[in-house]
Amino acid sequence: MTDRFDVVIVGAGHGGAQAAIALRQRKFEGTMAVIGDEPELPYERPPLSKDYLAGDKAFERLLIRPASFWADRQVAMLPGRRVSAVDPITRQLSVQGGKAIGYGTLIWATGGRPRRLSCSGHDLAGVHSVRTRADIDRLLAELPQVTRVVVIGGGYIGLEAAAVLTKFSKQVTVLEAQNRVLARVAGPALSRFYEAEHRAHGVDIRLGANVACIEERDGAACGVRLADNEVLPCEMVIAGIGIVPAVEPLIAAGAEGGNGVAVDSLCRTSLPDVWAIGDCAAHPNPYADGATLRLESVQNANDQATTVAKALTGVAEPYDAVPWFWSNQYDLKLQTVGLSLGHDREVVRGDPASRAFTVAYYRGPRLVALDCVNTMKDYVQGRALVAARAEIDPAALADAAVPLKELATAGIATPLS
Ligand code: FAD
Repeated sequence: MTDRFDVVIVGAGHGGAQAAIALRQRKFEGTMAVIGDEPELPYERPPLSKDYLAGDKAFERLLIRPASFWADRQVAMLPGRRVSAVDPITRQLSVQGGKAIGYGTLIWATGGRPRRLSCSGHDLAGVHSVRTRADIDRLLAELPQVTRVVVIGGGYIGLEAAAVLTKFSKQVTVLEAQNRVLARVAGPALSRFYEAEHRAHGVDIRLGANVACIEERDGAACGVRLADNEVLPCEMVIAGIGIVPAVEPLIAAGAEGGNGVAVDSLCRTSLPDVWAIGDCAAHPNPYADGATLRLESVQNANDQATTVAKALTGVAEPYDAVPWFWSNQYDLKLQTVGLSLGHDREVVRGDPASRAFTVAYYRGPRLVALDCVNTMKDYVQGRALVAARAEIDPAALADAAVPLKELATAGIATPLS
């Protein structure tokens, strides 16, 4: 006998949890299961490179909901199980080491696995990734024996980890292959600011640095060799070089996609009654002029989950949420709204030297994103401008003495249709 549920959610992370929550909030009364390959109930991932790594937050405080919440709402939580195959004809999921599970509707919310280094030594002891609670617990267990850490990848996760490790008085080097950190997600002004901040905290930031291999001693990492043959001795390596979306079972089942599973504006895949959300979903995004992309943020996972829950309960509203994201490094709180990709102009509002400033991104005359560093007010007041992709005079915006909400009433443009 196969267990069968009206809705099966694969992936017990942010998107999977929110899909179950939103379905019950919307009075969906069918049977529901959430299958996850991690042993824990759904938990918040962002603190892994922040408070949890720093030891400032116990794991129990990361749980998205307590166990009783799921039991009360009759959501069957099935942790520690990996779905290895999907049969879209019989609507059955193969579960590694367990019984097959049938579904009426499938919501795929599997996020991604950390991209592995491709060089030799990538699998040595002492080489870590930062994606799951288990990753952080392993890293923390080794940390007392570690003096020097090399972080490979100058994206948000690598930089957040570097910031925390300096608090533990570790000697930290960050290697970034591009000529600036955060190159994939932000403009040069923000990159230069964070490079300077990390250097001021003693982090050795190396730009244009290409890794040749991880050096080994007694089966463990003992250094990172660069392409120019310089060796950076260390006892720990952290690879923060992005994720590979976990979509193989769906693609093998015939779903369209590649870098993520392709979904439409309602988050439907090309397979019948199969939906996908969160980091693994390649979707058309209105804030990128409809271009297909994957977003890796809690906001996107939660809002796509809600889009699907609505559609499954009779309200088919295309996904149209304003993208937002945050990052904490040292005492700096960055809040980002909109998508800066493809911007052709950046305007700095305020003085980065004051450690409270905003970078505004334009595509043509329109404001498409804001990176707000310790400027919560700009973030709160600027959201509406970005949501409307307003035409704002860049000179007016650069004047930090004028609140953004005043620009909103003065110069907001007709929202894009
Ligand atoms: P996830 O939360 O990753 O959940 C997917 C789950 O599915 C995982 O548990 C995975 O193990 C499981 N799974 C995968 N394959 C299978 C399978 N075949 N069978 C069963 N289960 C499977 N975002 C922000 O907005 N702000 C931040 O500050 C921020 N910081 C971050 C810091 C770190 C260290 C990390 C790793 C991410 C951070 N993010 C942040 C990104 C954010 O956490 C993700 O965008 C979000 O978790 C995506 O949710 P998801 O549901 O798509 O995937």
